[in-house]
Amino acid sequence: MDSEQLREYGHRLIDFIADYYKTIESFPVLSQVQPGYLHKLLPDIAPDHPETMDQVLDDVRAKILPGVTHWQSPSFFAYYPANSSVAGFLGDMLSAGLGIMGFSWITSPAATELEMIVLDWLAKLLNLPDQFLSKGNGGGVIQGSTSEAILVVLIAARNKVLRNVGQNALEKLVVYSSDQTHSAFQKTCQIVGIHPENCRVLETDASTNYALRPGLLQEAVSQDLEAGLIPFFLCATVGTTSSAAIDPLAELGKIANSNDMWFHVDAAYAGSACICPEYRQYIDGVETTDSFSMSAHKWFLTNFDCSLLWVKDQDSLTEALSTNPEYLKNKASQANLVVDFKDWQIPLGRSFRSLKLWMVLRLYGSEALKNYIRNHIKLAKDFEQLVSEDPNFEIVTPRIFSLVCFRLVPAKNDEKKCNNQNRKLQDAVNSSGKLFISHTALSGKIVLRCAIGAPLTEEKHVKEAWNVIQDEASFLLHK
Ligand code: PLP
Repeated sequence: MDSEQLREYGHRLIDFIADYYKTIESFPVLSQVQPGYLHKLLPDIAPDHPETMDQVLDDVRAKILPGVTHWQSPSFFAYYPANSSVAGFLGDMLSAGLGIMGFSWITSPAATELEMIVLDWLAKLLNLPDQFLSKGNGGGVIQGSTSEAILVVLIAARNKVLRNVGQNALEKLVVYSSDQTHSAFQKTCQIVGIHPENCRVLETDASTNYALRPGLLQEAVSQDLEAGLIPFFLCATVGTTSSAAIDPLAELGKIANSNDMWFHVDAAYAGSACICPEYRQYIDGVETTDSFSMSAHKWFLTNFDCSLLWVKDQDSLTEALSTNPEYLKNKASQANLVVDFKDWQIPLGRSFRSLKLWMVLRLYGSEALKNYIRNHIKLAKDFEQLVSEDPNFEIVTPRIFSLVCFRLVPAKNDEKKCNNQNRKLQDAVNSSGKLFISHTALSGKIVLRCAIGAPLTEEKHVKEAWNVIQDEASFLLHK
C-alpha cells in the first residue's frame, strides 16, 4: 500500500462516488441490460500490465454502471432497503484501510471490544432484556447476513438438544416457522441436516395479517410430541419479507419455553424501527426468546454487511462452534479472559465491521436515527393514503412500518386476470426506469410492494412514484 498513491486515487474515487450520488436520479433505477452484456464489453483475460485509474474509471462509467441497479436511488422501493450512508460508507472504508482480521481477541483487541460495546449500545436502544448484554453470559455479535445468524443459532440449538437426548436423535428433531418465514430458514435447516419432513411450515392467512397463530403452533407441537418427535426450534419473524407481518412473540414464546425449544426472532428489516419507543411494542415478548437478530444494513444507515445477532447464552454458541488449533492458541484465549468471535460464527476470518456501526451511531446519534425511521414511515403512510384514494387499487394488508402492499383490484372477481394485470403493471413501471418496485404473493394474490427506506427518498419521490404507477395502470386498464 503506497500512501501517496492511495491519497491520489482515494481522492479521485471519493469524487467519483460523490458525483455518482449527485447524479443518481439520472440513471434508470432498475438496470435495463440483457444477460451476458458484460462479456461482450470486457476482455477474456486479465491484463498483464498495470492500467491507469482513468482507464478503470472510464470503464466503470461506460460498462459497469449500465449494469448496476441503483439501490441507493431515492426511487428504489423494491425488496427491503439496503442503506448506505456517509458514516456507514466511511466506517467501511476505515475498516478496509486498517485491513485487520479480528477472529480472536488477540488479533486486534479493539475489533472484539468495540463490537461488544456497540452491540450493547444497540441492545439498550432496542430495550432488549439485560440477558442479551455482554456483561453476563449473553452478548451480541455481527454476522454477515441474517442467514448466517439463523444458521449459527440453529447449530447451537441442535448441539444443545442432541447432548441431552443423544447424538442419534437428529432425525427426530422438529423445527417450526410460518409460511411467511424467510427462505433463509429453510436453507439453514437443509444445511444443518433437519429432515425436510420435520420442518413444520405453519399456514398463515389474512385473518391474522399473515402472522403465525400460537394455537396452530401449540397443536403442531402437541402432535409431534405424541408421535415421539422432539420439537426443538421455533423461528418467528417481526416484519416478514412479503408483508412485514409481526408474529406475536409473547404467546409464541410461552409455547417455546414450556417445551424447552430454542426461540429465535428474525427482525431483519423491522428491528430498526423498534429503537423508536412507539414501535418497541412489536418486539414485546423478546424476553422469552433465546436469540434475536436484525440487519443494520437494511434500514439503519449501515452499509452491507452488518447483521446483528444477540444471544442470551453465549456458551451454547461456543460449545457448538469453537475449535482450538495450535496455530491460533494464545495466552488471553487460553486463560478464558476474552471473547473470540471466531467461535460465534461460521468463518474464521472477520473484518472490523463494528467500526461502521459505531460511526453511524456517533455521527448521527440515536435521536436522528429514530427520526430517520419515522420519516420513512410517514412517507409510507402518505403513499398508502394515495393508493387507498384510487378506486382501481386496494391496500392488501394493513401497513405498520414503511412497506405498503397494494394491488390493482380484480374486475368481476377474476383473480387470475387480476394477477396477470398486476404483473404487467409491475413490469411496465419497472421498465420505465423511473422507479423500482417488487412483488410477492399472499393467499394466491400477486401483490405489489412499495418499501420506503432509501436514505435519499423524499416526499416528491413517493408522489412521483405514485404518478408513474397510476399512469401505467390507466394505460393498462384502458388498452
Ligand atoms: N429475514 C428477513 C425478514 C428478510 O427480509 C431477509 C431479506 O430481506 C432475510 C431474512 C435474508 O437476509 P440475508 O440476506 O441477510 O440472509
